[in-house]
Amino acid sequence: MTGKGSAKAYMGLGANLGDRRANILSAIGCLRALPGIAVLRAASLYESAPVGFIDQPRFVNTVIEVTTDLSPFDLLAAVQRVERDLGRVRTVRWGPRTIDIDILLYDDVTMDDPALTIPHPRMAERAFVLVPLAELVPDRLLNGRTVRDLAAAARSRADVEILTPAAEVIPG
Ligand code: ATP
Ligand code: CA
Ligand code: CA
Repeated sequence: MTGKGSAKAYMGLGANLGDRRANILSAIGCLRALPGIAVLRAASLYESAPVGFIDQPRFVNTVIEVTTDLSPFDLLAAVQRVERDLGRVRTVRWGPRTIDIDILLYDDVTMDDPALTIPHPRMAERAFVLVPLAELVPDRLLNGRTVRDLAAAARSRADVEILTPAAEVIPG
């Protein structure tokens, strides 16, 4: 496993407990260290208000681009191990968490398994996903619209501010 695998995937990371920025950076570091995954790029870090279950701290989010030779299910298992290693405890659905790593896109794969749905079923409505994703793949189409357009529309309805520019997320 070289991590130079043929699949290109995008993953969304979010944290709203502890040192949120450090948790995101640690998660990227853990993913980079895994055999079978190479992290190519990261978007800026953004801060946003929680959606859904709103009585919880604000989130820090970003999106990373990886190449991988892991299958979608093996990639899910790998990211769930990283979540556990960084102290994620599942309590309330959509509740506070030290780290959340979602698989957004995996090549052009579509799959609809209860344990793994790709593209991520709620990504096209989420400003905290679309805004960082638009830094990486603005022209990619989701449901027939560009990520750039979806991000602009979502951002106008949501409170999403830049926290750390991309160049400081993966230096060099
Ligand atoms: P949301 O999925 O709405 O962002 P969440 O991230 O808080 O919510 P979790 O508790 O982290 O939800 O995950 C619940 C389950 O979702 C996981 O056990 C996993 O099997 C499943 N799942 C389905 N599709 C995906 C995906 N694309 N990426 C990550 N997990 C997924
Ligand atoms: Ca999530
Ligand atoms: Ca998740």
